[in-house]
Amino acid sequence: MPQTTEQADILIIGAGPAGAVAAGLLRKQGRQVTVIEREQFPRFSIGESLLPQSMEYIEAAGMLRDVVEAGFQYKNGAAFACNGKYTEFDFRDKFSPGWGSTYQVQRASFDKVLADAAARAGADVRYRQEVVAVDVTGARPRVSVKDAEGAVREIEASFLLDASGFGRILPRLLKLESPSNFPVRGAIFTHVEDRIPMGSNFDRQKIRVTVHPEHPDVWYWTIPFSNGRCSLGVVAHNDFLSRCTGTETERLRAIVAEDPGLSTLLAGAVWDTPARQIVGYSANVSSLWGNRFALLGNAGEFLDPVFSSGVTIAFKSASLASECLAREAAGETVDWQRDYAVPLKAGVDTFRAYVEAWYQGSFQKIIFHEGGSPEVHRMISSILAGYAWDTRNPFVAEPKRRLAVLAEICS
Ligand code: FAD
Repeated sequence: MPQTTEQADILIIGAGPAGAVAAGLLRKQGRQVTVIEREQFPRFSIGESLLPQSMEYIEAAGMLRDVVEAGFQYKNGAAFACNGKYTEFDFRDKFSPGWGSTYQVQRASFDKVLADAAARAGADVRYRQEVVAVDVTGARPRVSVKDAEGAVREIEASFLLDASGFGRILPRLLKLESPSNFPVRGAIFTHVEDRIPMGSNFDRQKIRVTVHPEHPDVWYWTIPFSNGRCSLGVVAHNDFLSRCTGTETERLRAIVAEDPGLSTLLAGAVWDTPARQIVGYSANVSSLWGNRFALLGNAGEFLDPVFSSGVTIAFKSASLASECLAREAAGETVDWQRDYAVPLKAGVDTFRAYVEAWYQGSFQKIIFHEGGSPEVHRMISSILAGYAWDTRNPFVAEPKRRLAVLAEICS
């Protein structure tokens, strides 16, 4: 007998940060929400250092208490180290109003906390269900969903949100992918029991970004967790990573050994988890929306991990899309380009200017420069805290020009 097509209201692909927060926000509007997730949670994901701006969306989605009570590592800033130089930003001292602290999270737990909160709010979250085909040509988008036993069924929805992250389901199936303008970089990363001694120059309440002593475009992250462990990774051009041989763990250890400061910090670390590698993660799309669908988070664009902006952008996209859906439900006409894509890209483009300046070296020159203006420091602190949409900040309103002028002064 032919199976009947299930009818849904809002269908979300993926229960990662973008999907879960979108589900929470839409449930608050009283929408019926179905979330289709390929994996069983908890599952590993990269992207562990949040930015304070993201707290606004967690709060709006009604998930703040769940996150606070989960016991993640408190985070209040970012530290940068390079060849013996050290500088830090305290996000509580910043230009833009709003949250000045956040968390460093094991994503397996964090994503489960958010998805569970969405389910408690009434979203129908279905695990081990994979979206394998999509048809957006009709009045209502239609997806084919394969379950763990291999059975495929159809669901039709009034609106489809693709929050499939690096799965990039709609960009792939609808041929929306477009190349990123960043070179192909990769990351090798693991979790260690760090055993960094108390009293060493290491603030567990901050992400630490260490610039490679000889290659300024190569950098390491150390993201401390609340359980004495650390996320540790290196980001470099693929050619740089390829010159190291052995297992991923051996390659990461060899590259960490190239920085004396980081090696000293991690001298007692227990490397108990096999490292992994991810290459070519930067991605873009030709459009962030189409006929009754929109792309959220990494399913749209992903820039670069250096400023930990990924989850914040994912949340911002969920927030903008749910506002557009609320207006449509209220009978207003929504222009998804003007009301969703343009405002989302405004902040993404701010981050892009800083990522480009980081790899060109000018942003490093600025942050390691001693004796700058405290007001400028607070404006940059705002951007590093994720407030990339606050155009009252001159470094958001005109990022490229401001960065160029400042780098010149710092020279
Ligand atoms: P995801 O987190 O990828 O979630 C997508 C979900 O969709 C997954 O659960 C997946 O299983 C599911 N899915 C995929 N395909 C299908 C399908 N066909 N059917 C059903 N479900 C599907 N960001 C930060 O904020 N801070 C950081 O410190 C940081 N560090 C990073 C380091 C590296 C090396 C990289 C590459 C990225 C980093 N990021 C960081 C970025 C961060 O990982 C992402 O931006 C973030 O996870 C995006 O969230 P999302 O909800 O869009 O997608």
